[in-house]
Amino acid sequence: MQRQPNSTETGSSPAFAIEATNLGVTYSNGTEAVKDVSLEIPKGEFFGFLGANGAGKTTTIKMLTTLLRPTTGQISVNGYNAETDPRSVRESIGYMAQETSIDPVLTVRENLNFACRAYGVPSAKRGARIDDLLELVGLESKTADRAGMLSGGQKKRLDVAMTLVHHPPIVFLDEPTTGLDPAARNRLWEYFREINRQGTTVFLTTQYLEEADALCSDLALILDGEIVATGSPAELKAQVGGDVLEISLDDPSETAVEHARAIIEDSEVVASDEIESIQPTEDGFSVTATHARRIGTTLLVRLTESGVTITGFNIRSPTLDDVFLTLAGESKNDAADREIRPNGHRMEA
Ligand code: ATP
Repeated sequence: MQRQPNSTETGSSPAFAIEATNLGVTYSNGTEAVKDVSLEIPKGEFFGFLGANGAGKTTTIKMLTTLLRPTTGQISVNGYNAETDPRSVRESIGYMAQETSIDPVLTVRENLNFACRAYGVPSAKRGARIDDLLELVGLESKTADRAGMLSGGQKKRLDVAMTLVHHPPIVFLDEPTTGLDPAARNRLWEYFREINRQGTTVFLTTQYLEEADALCSDLALILDGEIVATGSPAELKAQVGGDVLEISLDDPSETAVEHARAIIEDSEVVASDEIESIQPTEDGFSVTATHARRIGTTLLVRLTESGVTITGFNIRSPTLDDVFLTLAGESKNDAADREIRPNGHRMEA
């Protein structure tokens, strides 16, 4: 049976499924992969840890699952201290790593049996448990197939099932849908939602903003090892500062976009503080503004009157992509500021 934290081990029932304070990792080659990361994730949450390649997601997940010792900071998972009681942490979690843990030579059922043995599931309970999991991930018809013959999506589903054999109260999923086609990805999303509905806390890392938006109730954005924003998808989108007016141009060159930007900024019909940002896009540019829906028509008329040829437009609510672009842009500016103003003053050429 899986051990549960009790009052003698933990002092009290843990308030959070995961608590991490001031985590930092510097690898032996000097790479500072994670800097001062703190997380408090309540039980039952579907939490998303969002960041680009190399941002520090896997490094963080490895610390939380006790596979990597942090250089600084403290971790508590399910009420167990990761440094002093790593075994209890490991027994109380499921971890789906980026690399598959399935054995291609074994059949689907044999792989699940192996996972049951590894996690100490009593043999009398294994059959029923495996049947339940095969049903959960829709692999009932594949039980006797060699795992190596499964499609990429089916392998991921088997991986999910193997992560769950011991009924862990928390599962860590490290970029579980990378490389899958949309249908396979959507199918996995359904299983993740179902696991969470059944009460399991989910810690998901992803670089797909759409995935984080679809699944997670709370998010942290990590950029270059640091958490730069936290909140629900709606709260993060609200930080973007308005709706987004996307404008396509017949000439989307940098010069043409700069010309359009100058027209908008010089325009008296729009107060300058209404416009949050103007960003180039593949086929034109986008304007983020507090009242994009109200000022949109006026802007389009102004641009057309000034000789700009508009081939299409669209007004939409912000997405997490906009949040990411805004935050990544701000962070780059901060870094540039740090570089050119080492003493708080701009260096003159
Ligand atoms: P991805 O989405 O590509 O998996 P990630 O967000 O998970 O990226 P990490 O794998 O945590 O990022 O890597 C964070 C940083 O640490 C990167 O700069 C990476 O090159 C570096 N890094 C990771 N593992 C090691 C290691 N064992 N030794 C040295 N540097 C490492």
